[in-house]
Amino acid sequence: MPSGRVHEAINLTALGLMGLAYLAGSPKEALGEPRVLAFTVSYLVGTFLVTPDLDLAEVRVRAKGRWGVLGVLWWPYGVLFRHRGLSHTWILGPLTRLGYLALVAYLLWVFLEGVYAYLEGGGALSLHLRIPSLPKEVLLSTLLGYYLSQWLHLIADGVLPDRDFRRRPR
Ligand SMILES: [Zn+2]
Repeated sequence: MPSGRVHEAINLTALGLMGLAYLAGSPKEALGEPRVLAFTVSYLVGTFLVTPDLDLAEVRVRAKGRWGVLGVLWWPYGVLFRHRGLSHTWILGPLTRLGYLALVAYLLWVFLEGVYAYLEGGGALSLHLRIPSLPKEVLLSTLLGYYLSQWLHLIADGVLPDRDFRRRPR
């Protein structure tokens, strides 16, 4: 099984190659396009911060270390998901991490709101969550960058897409 460092090296090499291919085929200004930026950022997040190996609760995973103190937030994920189980599937696997992140962010939000309400003595909440609405192509590029980073990890682990459709051994 490749180590975290090897996974990162593979992903970065692939990103470099994609970048070269992209540069060769498009004008220089295209590099500054929001969708290219979105793809690159989410690909890097998927390479360094949100990886399939976060399913290892007890082990020091490089990605978890990068979260610093917040790395503990991934501990329940590792407990919930068996190593190289659902977390290492092509379609649902990456989604479990997005869903988990959304849940954690939501809970943190509720907690902060509670603290705020308490400090304000039950006054009206004035914290507002603002999610910027992004153009569809930027959202798609974000998703693509993230998924591609996860898929390269799975390929390096020797997990093929057909695994999603086979019945997993218990
Ligand atoms: Zn893995």
